[in-house]
Amino acid sequence: MFCNQCEQTSKGTGCLTVGVCGKKPEVAALLDLLTYSISQLSEAARQARSKGVVDSGLNHLTTSALFVTLTNVNFDPDAIEKYIRDVTAKIDELAVKAEIDTSFVIKPASDVTGLVKQGEELGYPGSQEKNPDIRSLKELLLYGLKGVAAYAHHAAILGQEDEQVYTFIHEGMASLIGPDKPMEEWLGLVLKCGEINLRAMATKPASVYLYLAMTSRISRICWNKPRARVSISIPTERCCRPMVILN
Ligand code: SF4
Repeated sequence: MFCNQCEQTSKGTGCLTVGVCGKKPEVAALLDLLTYSISQLSEAARQARSKGVVDSGLNHLTTSALFVTLTNVNFDPDAIEKYIRDVTAKIDELAVKAEIDTSFVIKPASDVTGLVKQGEELGYPGSQEKNPDIRSLKELLLYGLKGVAAYAHHAAILGQEDEQVYTFIHEGMASLIGPDKPMEEWLGLVLKCGEINLRAMATKPASVYLYLAMTSRISRICWNKPRARVSISIPTERCCRPMVILN
């Protein structure tokens, strides 16, 4: 396995045998395959949108599946397999609805062992890029999009949605498995991702935070004891301020 997507990454360079977060190699391979599948779904979505086909189920599946690939969100192989199958079924549905050619799609294996092997071979989208500068930009874009998807997913649960955010998530994820581009274009996508992230965060952020606060464990720094990091389920108004949200 190779994963360097979060600040916990081993030695600051990458988790190679098991994740510092507890992620096992099999789960890492399944999550890589899911991420790759979301890029394929995004390409189908991009083509469908250009033909006027917009589907809210597609948007919700994209953001919830991408959220699953973040650190610590879901390490259940059965659940990840279901996401991979749901993503594939949605691509098939779009192919019929929007009459698009999905011959670019790599069909998932029929069992978990086969899916793990596919994940190991494919890696996450952009992982096989040879140019280190472009690979860095692709990874920056991927991790930025995962963050945008996390905001969009939780905002949608609260009934707040923004079509521009979904459109960019699909454009960005599709680009990671699309044709080569010059460095300037990758840089442009990374900068646009930052803009879109601000847009996603502006979707009633206070409500989104409140939702997370009531449903997640929140790691906080106590102002009175700044070195003591404490975890609590329900926030209090006394002396703490939120630092990191953990699911
Ligand atoms: S998500 Fe887990 S496996 Fe990946 S870099 Fe972070 S700690 Fe390592």
